[in-house]
Amino acid sequence: MAMSYTRKLILLGPPGAGKGTQSERLVEQLGIPQISTGDLLRANRKAGTKLGKKAQGYMDAGELVPDDLIIAMVKERLAQTDAQRGYILDGFPRTTAQAEAMVENDIVVERVVNLEVPKEALVERLSGRRICRECGASFHVAFKPTRKEGVCDRCEGETYQRADDSPAVIENRLDNFAAQTAPLIAFYGERGLLQNVSGEGEMSDVYQGILDALTV
Ligand code: AMP
Repeated sequence: MAMSYTRKLILLGPPGAGKGTQSERLVEQLGIPQISTGDLLRANRKAGTKLGKKAQGYMDAGELVPDDLIIAMVKERLAQTDAQRGYILDGFPRTTAQAEAMVENDIVVERVVNLEVPKEALVERLSGRRICRECGASFHVAFKPTRKEGVCDRCEGETYQRADDSPAVIENRLDNFAAQTAPLIAFYGERGLLQNVSGEGEMSDVYQGILDALTV
């Protein structure tokens, strides 16, 4: 019997939990877009938009970008045709104010997958992470190396280390997660939408855990 999965979902979890990596497979299997606020912001910075310029100081320091900027950006993205059948929200919402803005704007959430990974593993993952400048694909120097050093396996773009994947900024991002984003676990728990999934171990096991959590 073919499984049926929810298609309006949030991937919640600290930086380095694997939200982006797991989204890549979900996009393929479910045929819905991944909407990553971090990716959207990086694209804005690369294009030199007003939003990109406003966001860059916060991002480089590992601080959250103000809610009003993020909410406007997400509303615009969700209005596009490819998001009408469903979406994987990755890195949004990140504050209770953002989650409340979703309710006010009738943005539907059917399930929230909370990827759980202990802090030591997050630091290890983030500090070895490399990102493709062109397509945003994510690699790791030890756990998921590119076939050719510095070159993306998917599009042959150049890979780089994000400025905010440096040790001091990683600490700040994890602290901000605990203070500003972790309260969303209770927020969605109270609404009966939360599914906790272990983000440790083999990537394919984590993926199966996510699929199980999305089963209708
Ligand atoms: P990420 O790629 O999800 O790790 O996001 C990178 C950076 O973008 C974060 O450290 C924040 O500065 C900013 N950012 C991404 N998503 C959000 C959000 N939902 N709210 C506020 N800031 C965000």
